[in-house]
Amino acid sequence: MISRKKLIAGNWKMNKTSADALTLVADLVASVGRQTDVEVVVCPPFTSIETVGKAIEGSTLKLGAQNMHPEANGAYTGEVSAPMLRALFTTHVILGHSERRALFGETDVFVNKKVLAALKNQLKPILCVGESLGERESGSTLKIVQTQLEAGLDGVSKELAPSVVIAYEPVWAIGTGKVATTEQAQEVHAFIRSLLTKLFTEPVAQKVRILYGGSMKPANAPELLAQKDIDGGLIGGAALEARSFVELVSAAAAVQ
Ligand code: PEP
Repeated sequence: MISRKKLIAGNWKMNKTSADALTLVADLVASVGRQTDVEVVVCPPFTSIETVGKAIEGSTLKLGAQNMHPEANGAYTGEVSAPMLRALFTTHVILGHSERRALFGETDVFVNKKVLAALKNQLKPILCVGESLGERESGSTLKIVQTQLEAGLDGVSKELAPSVVIAYEPVWAIGTGKVATTEQAQEVHAFIRSLLTKLFTEPVAQKVRILYGGSMKPANAPELLAQKDIDGGLIGGAALEARSFVELVSAAAAVQ
């Protein structure tokens, strides 16, 4: 059986000036910048990408963006592209976050274009999928996740699939303090892995990391991270302070 290295990614969202970002990342470099048990990715806002990128040089931390446009360049005011991110040594990019889908009208088709553009430019997409509260209550969680996953990965080759990271983020758990139970999370993660098996074969599906996201905190992380198909976390609120984020990295290392 393949052992997948745990991955903890911090999504800083629209928080931190460059100066604040530098303070946070300097703490992270000092605390977890040398360990190799867990893959750690920080995703600052675009305005701090370069500063954070320089600060993590020589450490084991990796740099992620929170979004990108599928085109390489052109008349897309306010957007940034994969080649621009690559030029700043970004390695990962969060795509299809529920806030982008809900607040900025991003569709599965648009998210898919971004996934393909990211892979074409050697960026690892962190593709977010997850149901709303209404969808969970009406029993359509798996259907929603399947639609988002299959559409998001349309056209991805078997060879490139292991570069994709999936984040299962129940929308009702994001920033709400309501975390999915370990059973709820593991059920969806196992379902995602079974879909990946159908799409790409079993050996490929075993290589893909599936993160949980939604109010993951040091207190609830150990149980979630111990689940068979939970390969790490996409962390919002708890990524904004070095102490809680470092504790999450330690929790992941403990079950590695
Ligand atoms: C997120 O936005 O990806 C997230 C998981 O946020 P939080 O940890 O704050 O719920």
